[in-house]
Amino acid sequence: MFRKVHYRLTLLCGGITTFLLLVMSLLYLYVSESGLKQSHFLAFQRDTGNLIANFEQQTVISHTWLAQMESLNSVTMSVTDNGVPLLFCDRAQDEKRERTEREALEYYRSHYAITTDSPFQSYHTAYPFTSTDGRDYYASYACIPHENGETEILILFPLENQKKQIQNQRKRFAAIDFTAMVLLFLFSFFFTKKLLIPVEENRLEQIRFVAAASHELRTPLAVILSCTGAIRGQNSAKKASPEEAETFLSTIDSEGQRMRRLIDDMLFLSHSDSHDFQIRSEPMEPDTLLLNSYEAFEALANEKNIRFGILLPDSPMPPCLGDGERLLQLLAILLHNAVSYTPEGGSITLSLSYAKPQKTGTARLYRPDFYTIAVADSGIGIPDGEKSKIFQRFYRSETSRSAKEHFGLGLCIAEKIVRSFHGSIRVEDTPGGGSTFLLQLPFIPAPRPAPS
Ligand code: ADP
Repeated sequence: MFRKVHYRLTLLCGGITTFLLLVMSLLYLYVSESGLKQSHFLAFQRDTGNLIANFEQQTVISHTWLAQMESLNSVTMSVTDNGVPLLFCDRAQDEKRERTEREALEYYRSHYAITTDSPFQSYHTAYPFTSTDGRDYYASYACIPHENGETEILILFPLENQKKQIQNQRKRFAAIDFTAMVLLFLFSFFFTKKLLIPVEENRLEQIRFVAAASHELRTPLAVILSCTGAIRGQNSAKKASPEEAETFLSTIDSEGQRMRRLIDDMLFLSHSDSHDFQIRSEPMEPDTLLLNSYEAFEALANEKNIRFGILLPDSPMPPCLGDGERLLQLLAILLHNAVSYTPEGGSITLSLSYAKPQKTGTARLYRPDFYTIAVADSGIGIPDGEKSKIFQRFYRSETSRSAKEHFGLGLCIAEKIVRSFHGSIRVEDTPGGGSTFLLQLPFIPAPRPAPS
């Protein structure tokens, strides 16, 4: 499925960028070609104007002068005096040229011919023209009156070079556009592939999550079904006695509780994935919350003969803004793990620290940026290779796989809560053995209550 999406995205991305590139190129070509044609036409107008002005100043028109002017300006000139062609007798008979000149003259007469009020005034018009054999020219017609009549000059400038120049420019653009198109498609291919990696990873994670969740739910469900079967006597000849039924019922109850915890955890993660779990921002005292957690887990630690201690800063920490309930949930996960993975006779320490108050002038400022909570145990520890994996969903180390009350979701939930606090969580080895989980949470001072 992803391959299909990848190809479609490549086509879409490459198609849109190529389309834009083509539109831009065509626009550029249009502007550049029009500019080129316009500048060529203006140059032709200027050159023929000079030529005709030169012509007017000549008293005698020599063949050499005309031939020079023709080759200098890359034009062909035809001159008639009172309708009689000048110089044609010397010029090699060129039927094609004569036909073109005739057509250019006719074109001028039908489109531009002007009647001047003063027959003694010379005039000159430049115009683009296409001959019947499809060749493009710039033509210039001039009429110079003199005492015995008038001299007409027709100058033709073939546009073959200009056409070639334009064609070469088009070819260059086509080559550049084609290369750019290939590069754009290649770029789109790799870019969309990179873009889809997190989506693909997310999908795989969802698949793994569903598989692991079903696996985790299947075990308590199987136990519940076998217990109900045993109570009803489905697999044996006789029904369970009331005492046996009571035992089965308490197993069903504890497995049901286990399923509920697992479902609660999964729901929490699903809310967190869809960013719709709420984090409150209300005044709380982290040291008081730590004490509450300590008291909640003291009995459990005592049961396992674990020394449990708490270290709080000497001066009480000022209240800050946060979600106290979530902080308690976070501490419960870490303390529950610490108690679970610390063998009898071990020790657990819960501690809180924050930057010491700074003295500025006469006022004391309590403004630490972060406060740190550490849960250090002397338990089985976490190998370095597993330290980054323990925050993944359903990850459990080999040693904890048999523990029924552990699903491998606790630390993943803890990380989500810490992230929603904009803090950080990491695990280190406790000196002498065991693990220490360190939480660094931002300190946002709670506003002082208004004096009543
Ligand atoms: P679980 O419910 O299995 O404890 P967690 O996500 O809380 O799931 O922890 C993931 C894994 O991290 C555990 O299976 C365990 O291997 C390891 N772990 C967590 N806390 C500790 C600890 N304090 N000491 C040793 N290992 C721990």
